[in-house]
Amino acid sequence: MNVSDTEIVNSILMEEGMEPVNEPEDAEIIFVNTCSIRENAEERVWNRLKEFRALKRDKDGNLTVGVLGCMAERIRDKIIEKEQLVDLVVGPDAYRDLPKLLSDVDDGRKAVNTILSLEETYADIKPIRTNDNGVSAFVTIMRGCDNMCAFCVVPFTRGRERSRPAESILDELQQLSDQGYREVTLLGQNVNSYDDGDHSFADLMYKASQVDPEMRIRFSSPHPKDFPEELLEIISEQPNLCNYIHIPAQSGNNAVLERMRRPYTREQYFDLVEKMRDIIPGLTLSTDIITGFCGETEEEHEDTLTLMAKVKYDLAYMFAYSERGRTLAQRKYEDDVPEDIKKRRLSEIIKQQMEIQEELNKQEIGRRHLVLVEGTSKRSDEQLCGRTDTNKMVVFDRKDFQKGDYVEVTITDCTSATLMGEPVQKSSIQEFSRETVTA
Ligand code: SAH
Ligand code: SF4
Repeated sequence: MNVSDTEIVNSILMEEGMEPVNEPEDAEIIFVNTCSIRENAEERVWNRLKEFRALKRDKDGNLTVGVLGCMAERIRDKIIEKEQLVDLVVGPDAYRDLPKLLSDVDDGRKAVNTILSLEETYADIKPIRTNDNGVSAFVTIMRGCDNMCAFCVVPFTRGRERSRPAESILDELQQLSDQGYREVTLLGQNVNSYDDGDHSFADLMYKASQVDPEMRIRFSSPHPKDFPEELLEIISEQPNLCNYIHIPAQSGNNAVLERMRRPYTREQYFDLVEKMRDIIPGLTLSTDIITGFCGETEEEHEDTLTLMAKVKYDLAYMFAYSERGRTLAQRKYEDDVPEDIKKRRLSEIIKQQMEIQEELNKQEIGRRHLVLVEGTSKRSDEQLCGRTDTNKMVVFDRKDFQKGDYVEVTITDCTSATLMGEPVQKSSIQEFSRETVTA
């Protein structure tokens, strides 16, 4: 989401005649787009700001440093007054105000706008993508979140949920297709609650699938509560809607889920997974897990391990609980699981997850996948890398294939993170039958 927001900020600044540079030393203005989701995300930002303060001294003060994004909301006073680290603080809904705020800084004033909006979706701003691979793009479709999960700071830093009108999303998809993009990830804090008044998320996904049959559509991050059958059927029927879904579970224990204010039980979650796999054959799944949430006992932690072992996710993002100011958990519960136990539980779930991923990846050996080439592999210029429909990274020999090609690849080997394969031929979404994968 921050990458996507940065592309909006690019657009607003470039409209004012500014240009991006590659090295911080060459910049007159540096913005740090920040995240508050966990304490360590914020730590990294503080360290970065200290580096820029040193750079500012080297440049005799000829540098404006600004903080954008979620941290702006949380620490605007501290950031400006106590630390003297930054000149400008702008929250996620105030980017249109940047040119005015920059001129305030020029006039010698500190500039702050952290007002959250009920409407802002930046729908009319055409993001400028300076840093992507030219194949995959992010498109923000909704902002904010109303769910108020007990652990989560997002509703406080990003404000209320609001959806961008479908027309402006579909226009942007068309433009991306015209520019040669082959894959789009629709983004929102709670992406499947999308509702612009005329379209549900299922409606939007269907329309998005029709823009360009050779453009893959993914989405992140959804919430388990908004997966109607209709949506699953649309994903199953449209070949360019990817057979990969992220469904954050957070915990496998009902009492923990209730404390977290997650509106489902372990049993309902299993039912959803089963329904998804019934409707979408070959579907892969990923999840988010928090270990060591307030009051989590050893038995409750075991339930998370067994949930993950039962579902067998292809990928998981796993975190130790980090208490955030203003959240319900911070106000109501005690952060009482000691740090070393959180870490131990985290390493247990990570270890199990790596074993599951390796087992699942081994089952891929011999299958044929349609891989969208994203670029050269990290290890060797002679190899390309790209993703399957099911979001698995595949590395294979370059031959005559290029970035942006769809290539049929037979999987020959794997690690827990990556598949290795033998390219067969160039192909397309319409030529390739998904049944080939499991044949
Ligand atoms: N809207 C998404 C999540 C967005 S935040 C959803 O509902 O699933 C991304 C992930 O960060 C969350 O799923 C959660 O696993 C993790 N997270 C959020 N707050 C956290 C906290 N206080 N400590 C640790 N992890 C947290
Ligand atoms: Fe945070 Fe996601 Fe819950 Fe919203 S749904 S409060 S973003 S974890």
